[in-house]
Amino acid sequence: MFVQKNEKGIWLVVLDRGQLLLESLTKVVTQEKILGGHLSAIGALKNPELGFYEVHEKNYIRKAFDSGDFELISLIGNVSLKESQPYVHAHAALGLADFSVIGGHLFEAEVAVTAEIFITPFGAMPVREMDEKLGLATIQHCRIQ
Ligand code: ZN
Repeated sequence: MFVQKNEKGIWLVVLDRGQLLLESLTKVVTQEKILGGHLSAIGALKNPELGFYEVHEKNYIRKAFDSGDFELISLIGNVSLKESQPYVHAHAALGLADFSVIGGHLFEAEVAVTAEIFITPFGAMPVREMDEKLGLATIQHCRIQ
């Protein structure tokens, strides 16, 4: 793993083959005390677990894909606080060898080749709280630290 911050406060995180993407990113934002922010990534993943939220059921359809490596075409996400802990919320578009694409809410995935992630801090921590109507913890306010 490689973690570097530039003079503008933007972070570059490069993960290695075999690392868990969201677990590793959550460790980085916790250790480096990154206050909120936007993240984007490209690379390649394997064993992704994706979700599709059914709001009328207040539940995710979850599906694990164990059919080899996927091109990480695009991952976007953000950093917030959920239950007082740093939380990385990410959505991913993943490409297959036949050039079809799957995507959704990313629960977790393993890095298959590399993952190149840039994080731009927001400077305040968005705070998630449960929205009972949606059945989800959504961003309700920001905490400036
Ligand atoms: Zn999501």
